[in-house]
Amino acid sequence: MYWRVGQFPELNHLTAEERERILRHLPRSTYFLMVARAFVVTVVVALLTGARLAKVSPALCLTTIAAVSLGGTVVVYQLQIRHFRRVMRRSIAMAFRGERLPFCLGCGYDLRGSNSDACPECGAMTIVPGTLQ
Ligand SMILES: [Zn+2]
Repeated sequence: MYWRVGQFPELNHLTAEERERILRHLPRSTYFLMVARAFVVTVVVALLTGARLAKVSPALCLTTIAAVSLGGTVVVYQLQIRHFRRVMRRSIAMAFRGERLPFCLGCGYDLRGSNSDACPECGAMTIVPGTLQ
């Protein structure tokens, strides 16, 4: 489970300076917008869910709204960060199509010293096919 882009294993092969230089291009508002988007979506769902319980028990209603809001925000945030990683991996694969990747897209293993067609760490292919969709 990743919470920030800097945790993605695709960046493990970079030096600290390279990683910082790349991550500097990420707008500061990225995480705030992802959390805000997740919160708004889940609060709407939580209100719709909790409102049905108001007639049964106001305390249960508030508890449900709080639990669904918190849990839903985490789930929706994780879906967004996974999508972000998928888009980044696709961009990297497009940039290296037809070539050997300098790192494994599966686990982030540094492949610069390897001549194998498969990652020695996880077995993923190290050469991106020449054509991608
Ligand atoms: Zn690997």
